[in-house]
Amino acid sequence: MRQPLAPSGLDPAWRLQQRRGVYVLQADPLTRFDWLVHGFSTTPGGVSLLAGRQVLNLGYTEWDSPHRVAQNRRRFLAALGADDWPLVTLRQIHSDLVHTVTATPRTPARGDAQISRTPGLLLAVGTADCVPILLVDPERRAVAAVHAGWRGTLRRVVAKTVGRMQMEFGSQPANLLAALGPAIGACCYEVGPEVAAAFAAQFSCAEAWFAGPFGELAAGEDPTPLPWLTMAPPGHTPPPKRVRLDLIAANRWQLEETGVRPENIYSSGLCTACCSEWLFSYRRERSRTGRLLGVVGIQAG
Ligand SMILES: [Zn+2]
Repeated sequence: MRQPLAPSGLDPAWRLQQRRGVYVLQADPLTRFDWLVHGFSTTPGGVSLLAGRQVLNLGYTEWDSPHRVAQNRRRFLAALGADDWPLVTLRQIHSDLVHTVTATPRTPARGDAQISRTPGLLLAVGTADCVPILLVDPERRAVAAVHAGWRGTLRRVVAKTVGRMQMEFGSQPANLLAALGPAIGACCYEVGPEVAAAFAAQFSCAEAWFAGPFGELAAGEDPTPLPWLTMAPPGHTPPPKRVRLDLIAANRWQLEETGVRPENIYSSGLCTACCSEWLFSYRRERSRTGRLLGVVGIQAG
């Protein structure tokens, strides 16, 4: 199948690079550092087979063979010009655990954020709807890769990562650049009352990140009338009320709170659930889907 030239909705500050049939998304402002390697993968151009399509699955999922995933990873790294770089991944657990990486670990650590100043390592975050965030400190030559789904966002994983960069590397938030890769958008990300209530308890401004009956759900009032009150016939009860969450907005807010300048935060503008030609979405494909990778690293020498 022929791919369109670029995913519609891609932010003008971003570009799609094609090399040997693999397409990599990059935030333009991060490409001006010659010592930096970064990019977010897309689905075309791989050797894995999913729903009759050849895709670039970069995660070790049940439906795919490790051999194919390894081959896809090699293609992705080659497209980035980082062929021989070790890929440092995490066993992601929707936590706020931040790891400082100085060497390739023998087995992936459990956690959801990595920071490093060591050249020659490629920090990776795997996603299929959650927000992949890359942080770059040009002054201290430090980088970070963060995984923020709703649980990680609730635990302020990106703000804690900035805090760790300050503490360990002396990074000033005002110097940081942040690239927020493709994630499920406010257009598609329906969540239930438990998520609304959890955010309301943690953030006084949470309402700004939700569309729908946030107030009612957050207050624990079920806005869905019970079936015997509506006299709905059995099996025809209305579905429970939902709200839609804007994870990008919530993470952008956290970054700004820590002191990252709004003009240094770049979001791809792409929704994983909308953009089926280019991106994997756990929500859209109901678990049988691939994984995208966002990676960042420092050139040696
Ligand atoms: Zn969408």
